[in-house]
This record gives sequence, C-alpha cells and structure tokens, in this order.
Amino acid sequence: MLVAKVNADLYRYEIDALIHAFYPGEEVRTVLAGQAVPEVQANKKSCGGTEDEPAFLSVEYEEDCIGMLFSDEQGVRRFAALPGELKEAGIRFDRRSPETKDALKHLLYESLQDITGHDLPWGELIGVRPTKIATKQLQNGASINEAALYMQKRHYVSEDKAMLAARIAQTELDILDSNVLGDGYSLYVGIPYCPSTCLYCSFPSYPAAGAAGQIKAYLEALHEELAMIADMNRGRRLDTVYFGGGTPTALSAGELDQLLGKVRELFDTGKVREWTVEAGRPDSITEDKLRVLRDHPVTRISVNPQTMNDATLRIIGRGHTAEQTVRAFHMAREAGFDNINMDMILGLPGETAKDVAHTLKEIEELGPDSLTVHSLAIKKGSRMQQYIAEKGYDTVLGAGSTMELAIDSAKRMDMLPYYLYRQKNMTGNQENIGFAKNGKYGLYNIIMMEELQPVAAAGAGSVSKFFEPGRRIVRSDNPKEITAYIEKIKSADR
Ligand code: SF4
Repeated sequence: MLVAKVNADLYRYEIDALIHAFYPGEEVRTVLAGQAVPEVQANKKSCGGTEDEPAFLSVEYEEDCIGMLFSDEQGVRRFAALPGELKEAGIRFDRRSPETKDALKHLLYESLQDITGHDLPWGELIGVRPTKIATKQLQNGASINEAALYMQKRHYVSEDKAMLAARIAQTELDILDSNVLGDGYSLYVGIPYCPSTCLYCSFPSYPAAGAAGQIKAYLEALHEELAMIADMNRGRRLDTVYFGGGTPTALSAGELDQLLGKVRELFDTGKVREWTVEAGRPDSITEDKLRVLRDHPVTRISVNPQTMNDATLRIIGRGHTAEQTVRAFHMAREAGFDNINMDMILGLPGETAKDVAHTLKEIEELGPDSLTVHSLAIKKGSRMQQYIAEKGYDTVLGAGSTMELAIDSAKRMDMLPYYLYRQKNMTGNQENIGFAKNGKYGLYNIIMMEELQPVAAAGAGSVSKFFEPGRRIVRSDNPKEITAYIEKIKSADR
C-alpha cells in the first residue's frame, strides 16, 4: 500500500487518484499527518506496533508554497512549488483556491513523472469528462488543433488523446447544432435487476430470479416516483428518455409494457427525440419483449456482448454465450430496430489483443449502428477487486494497447467517435468511447457527458441533476438499496 500524508485536509481525492494512476496495481491511501491508516494498523496488530507508518509521499501546504517529499527504495526526494503564475500576477497564494489545486496537480504529476520515468495518456486529468475542456476551448473560438494543444500544454495530455478529445468535442457541437436543446430536460428510468451479477459490476443490480414480489413493489414505487417527476416538470419539454440499470429487459414483457405505458401516460412525450432501452444482457432478450418495445416508441436499444469469447463470459459471470448475443442481435433486427448499440469491454481478465480482435470481428459481422468501448474499471469493493487480489493485477492489463484495435474497427464500420468519458481506476489509464454511424448517435449520452440539460432520474441508485442559477449543477441521489428506495418513495410528500 502507498500512503500519502497531508498536513491539511485539502485535495486528498486528487492526490489519491493521481498516485493510483501512476501505480495502477497498488492500494493508495491519503490521510492527514498523524492519522493512522486502518489497514496498515490491522496488519501490525500481531506485532503490537502502532507507530506512525512511513509515507510514500508527504505533502506540506505552507503559507506561500507546496512541498512534497517522496520516500521509496530509491531514497528520499523533495519537490516544492510556489505557483509561478500566481506569483507573477501578484496574487496571494491561497491554499483553497482553484489555482492552488491546479498547482498541486501540476507539481504532483511532474514529480511522479520524474520518479516513475513515464507519462500518462490523459496526463494529470482525473475527471470523468475530459472533452469538456476541449469543448470550452472550441466555444471560445479555438480550432481543433488549438484545443488539443491546450490540453497537451496545460494538462500534460498525450498528443493522441488530446486530438481524440478535441475531435469528439467538435462532433458533439456539430450534433448539438442540429438538435437545439433549449430548456428541455431528459428522463432516466432505472431498473436495478439483472439475470446475474457480472464480476465487474458497479451499478445498482440485483438478481431478478426469485424476486417477483419485490419487483412488483419496486415497480409500484417507480410508478409513484415517475408521477411526482411528471408533476414537477409539467409544461417543460421532454427531449430524451433513457431506460437503464441494471437491465430493463430483466423485467417480463408485461411489466415492460406497463412501465412504458405509464411513462407515456404521465409525460407529454410528443417532442421526445430519442427513446433508449438498454436491453443489455442478451440472456434477457426475447421476441415478446422486443415486440413490446416496438409497440411503444423505443428508437434505440443496446445488445451488449462485452466480449465474444465464451471462456471470458464464464469468468465474468455473464451467464450467456457469444451465440446468444448473435441470436439476440438478429432478433432485434428482425423486430425492426434500426438503431442498435453494442457495448464491449477492453482489459477483461485473461483477454489478449487476439481475443479483442476476435470480438471486434464478430461485432463487425453483425453490423451494429453504434459501438461503445469501455476500458475495464476496477471499483473498490467490487467482486472484480477480490478477483484481482486472488489472481494478480497482471490478469487485467490489456486495455491500453487494444483501444487502437477498437478505433480501427469502428472506422471500418463507418463510425465516428462522438462521446467519451473516464472513470476512476480504469485499467491502462484509458477511457470509454462511444462510436456511431452518421445519425445513429445517442443524444442522451452527449447530454449526460456534457451536462447540457437537467436529468430527472427515477429508480433505485439513480441520480437526478438540476441546474441552479449560474448553471451550478446540483445532484440528488436515490438510495441504491431497493427496500430503502421503496421506503423513501412511500414516505415522500406529494
Ligand atoms: S448487466 Fe450491467 S448492471 Fe447487470 S450485473 Fe452486469 S454489469 Fe451490472
């Protein structure tokens, strides 16, 4: 474990995330100086030691500078910075200012670059939405090249990733130009049930089998919450509707029909431009469910293979085969869907570039309308983290080099990258990219990533986002746990 200590409770998240990005297989803890690290103390108990643990990094915020002291087997190294641009501008160093946070990240990134001898593809960026930086530059009149250069110079982003982000930002702006959003909003509906739980899952998801009684109570609460949301948004234009989860098609055809009907009954859906249902798991897709989706105005669905290798599907607990994915995809085409997305994950346990190439070849043969490529993210407390603790981090190192294979495959399918986001603890320090054929992009995905509209979200674990004056974004989270969610809705004032 790598321990970082700070002399003030500032920017611990940033320190933790950047160290972790440079040392992906390591546990990292950033604590206040003098504070014990519980895991380290627990390991020491048997020898009775409780003394202060040695820190890999000590950060000192002083009156006018930041100091960093690194200790490892190579020795002790000291780096210190007074934010130059602040000094030159005659601005007093303020430990809580955004400029100080930037200075800390620059210093930490350069120090870790120096210590490890390598760079990170996304430089010092640890946030979810790197394209937002490029979008801002483009909106201020920069060209694609200038926006990319800004990301390289200001945030140490590699040339490739900076160009990718700037091109995607431009594509998003072009798509939005032809889809004026104005002051509408989007609706998200979460179904937290799946046929089984995948090894890497970090979403609200519970097994659907044997949960019929609970699903009934859940749907009643969901209908109630949807009614409240509809009341609150009366008179506003609804632009997109997205059913995610979980796996919405883990519901029965009858339950799906009732839920979609409820949304249409409660909301004015006359101006909705996009209805997406993440059918997701091929083992949940049946002809009668597809017919229900077609009977309602669903325009876009996902049939997600994640991988087309059966051995990997068994390891990750997907409970379906590659053959089932092929069948579900054909069924969806035959049902009349002309906008089908497929999701895949890079860096799955044991997968090599050859396995990824095989998955991409199978996907190309099916010919989806969009492809979303995820780099595996290892969430704290997930079953995947346990798996890695047992099998070793080396089993999941493949994401970095294989993203290029996915980019080439998308090009062969005439798809352009149109949205991008990152998550914490992604293998290979990569990203997730959505590719789509012309006109087959997911508008909701862009709205979410660029935070362009309020999103009213219903269901366990869902997150609504609203804008306060000045466009400050406020989140409102629903409980992830199903009984807590049902209780919350029951006790809500209407
Ligand atoms: S299908 Fe998605 S939501 Fe369901 S268990 Fe797998 S990763 Fe989680």
